Amino acid sequence: MVEPKYRRVLLKVSGEALAGEKGFGINPSVVNGLVKEIKEIHALGVEVAIVVGGGNIWRGNIGAEMGMERSQADYMGMLATVMNGLALQDTLENLGVPTRVQTSIEMRQIAEPYIRRRAIRHLEKRRVVIFAGGTGNPYFTTDTTAALRAVEIGADVILMAKNNVDGVYSADPKLDMNATKFEELTHMEVISKGLSVMDSTASSLSMDNDIPLVVFNMNEPGNIKRVCLGEQIGTTVRGK
Ligand code: UDP
Repeated sequence: MVEPKYRRVLLKVSGEALAGEKGFGINPSVVNGLVKEIKEIHALGVEVAIVVGGGNIWRGNIGAEMGMERSQADYMGMLATVMNGLALQDTLENLGVPTRVQTSIEMRQIAEPYIRRRAIRHLEKRRVVIFAGGTGNPYFTTDTTAALRAVEIGADVILMAKNNVDGVYSADPKLDMNATKFEELTHMEVISKGLSVMDSTASSLSMDNDIPLVVFNMNEPGNIKRVCLGEQIGTTVRGK
């Protein structure tokens, strides 16, 4: 059997990635496709933790633009990530993959509260751990949650599964014909060039804690496994 490159990964799945073509809500067949790939890497022996976004249901800035109080709107966003987390859990368990959902805001009837040591124990016991509820704080994003949880659980890498984007470009390839794709970057370059990879809080946290990131297209079947096996796809952002 081929040895995976990583022992423990933190997979960031944006809300959009669960929505499919409509761009909103949860599309069961899209979730099913994604989960099959997660099952594959789990079967390789990789320990898998997932941070799930909520943008397919609600984003705090939408509420703020409509005149809502920002924190209130952000809490709605955090709740949206919990719905996505439960959808992922249900689909994974239907395929026979054991899981736990941990939320950063307590809701004990439906999920465990986030407890770092417990999350690590679940991973060691070969359960896929889904982190929902973001960081639990308004004014943050689930990208920052991904960086934070990756550092906390000692993940080897953050896998940034993007929707129809196959890496980091010098400019938006849809708007600029001369945009070029980077194979490798550092977090410092991402920050100094203002590249849109993660928000700057997430990039700083990843840089300060020397955690690499792979940005790749999750709509290409097999890509999650390819990344785990060490194939050079997408863009790798190095820690230092
Ligand atoms: N959010 C938050 N704090 C966090 C994580 C998320 O307030 O730590 C809120 C924020 O309003 C955000 C929404 O949850 O817009 C959904 O998360 P995000 O936009 O990161 O999801 P994604 O873009 O990955 O789908």
